[in-house]
Amino acid sequence: MASEKSKLEVLEEEYRKINKLPRLAKAVENVDKIIELLSAAREQVASDPESHTTITITKLQNPVKTAFEAVNDGLKGAAAAHKKMGKALDKSFPLKPLPTDHDAMADHVSLINRAIAMHLLREGQFSVASTFINEVQVTLKREESADLDEPMDEGDDGDEGMDADEAVSTTSSENYDLSSFHSQELQENFAEMYNILQELKARNLMPAITWARNNSVELEARGSNLEFELSRLQFVWLFKGPSVNGLPDDENNGQRGALQYARSNFTRFQARHLNEINRLACSMAFAPNIAASPYKQIFAIDTAFSDVASSFTREFCSLLGLSAESPLYLAATAGALALPQLMKYTQKTLAKGTEWTTSNEMAFETPLPESMLYHSIFVCPVSKEQTTDANPPMMIPCGHVLAKETLQKLCKGTRFKCPYCPSEGMIKDARQIIL
Ligand SMILES: [Zn+2]
Repeated sequence: MASEKSKLEVLEEEYRKINKLPRLAKAVENVDKIIELLSAAREQVASDPESHTTITITKLQNPVKTAFEAVNDGLKGAAAAHKKMGKALDKSFPLKPLPTDHDAMADHVSLINRAIAMHLLREGQFSVASTFINEVQVTLKREESADLDEPMDEGDDGDEGMDADEAVSTTSSENYDLSSFHSQELQENFAEMYNILQELKARNLMPAITWARNNSVELEARGSNLEFELSRLQFVWLFKGPSVNGLPDDENNGQRGALQYARSNFTRFQARHLNEINRLACSMAFAPNIAASPYKQIFAIDTAFSDVASSFTREFCSLLGLSAESPLYLAATAGALALPQLMKYTQKTLAKGTEWTTSNEMAFETPLPESMLYHSIFVCPVSKEQTTDANPPMMIPCGHVLAKETLQKLCKGTRFKCPYCPSEGMIKDARQIIL
């Protein structure tokens, strides 16, 4: 707001200056003078055409010429003032490209490269990831050595992601360096994850159980039940016997094998999962006809393996400090979902030639599925501002919610009146809402 005001002040100053310059008023005066002269001459000629015509016209020549010159001068002055004002306007309010024309990605090449490398690693595309990382580094080095001398030939090696101009302008920063990105370590981690997932797909729970046991302290600290879930499924899987699980038909398989497995492994879960362990033990009594028993749900394994696989992926990533879903995948999917509305908005904005004034804020809602919503936001219905940590949403006793600053503005002494209902309240009764 402050900079806009000063811009307006500059313009006002300019306007005052221009106002002092001779403007159209003088030209209009001169035009009136010419009309007067011409009218007088016409009357004179009309009164006595014989004697007056030649002399009247001769007499008219000089004054009319002078008046015309004065009109032209006046017009020039007005044009100059007009031009000057136009320049002042352009300077104060330069033509900006619409935000929709701006390539928001162009300034963040390194972040995008990082996201791509990360996505490839988490997808298990290790060789593609390492080729990608190498190519980014090579391009970076080449651009550093080519430096500012001359721009690289475009499209010579198909690295569309690295625009030469963009890269040169910021190369000196270490932003481009993907070597700080511990790709080797990440790759080893993800390789382990994929091996375990592969085994889970082949219905071998043991590698996942071993991993969960090795990380049981961290998992339990997160409130994760992964180790127990995997072990319970192992019990069920053994219980089903060789005809279902295809494992060797010996004392380690079938009901005996399951019981044996429970005896040697379930004690560690007793503190937290005693009820479930009891249910598993009771189910043994219904062994001949589990499908008709109250325990049939425990033994339904249609989705059990894919369920534990996604639990495992989630926990594995979270122990690495990563989200379960690839951020690049999520961002691209959310972007694709929002695209139709963005295009509609862009078309309307272009057609009207206006722009959304708040930067970094979308001018419209983007309906995304719940799984893609991460940060709840609250916009104060009075100030229309999004709440922040410094200005949190507050619920007042009548149940309406306002931003803290709005509430403070509404306050008279310690009391305020709700803007949405007839209730009054005390500021001490307002409660902060945690979203
Ligand atoms: Zn209220």
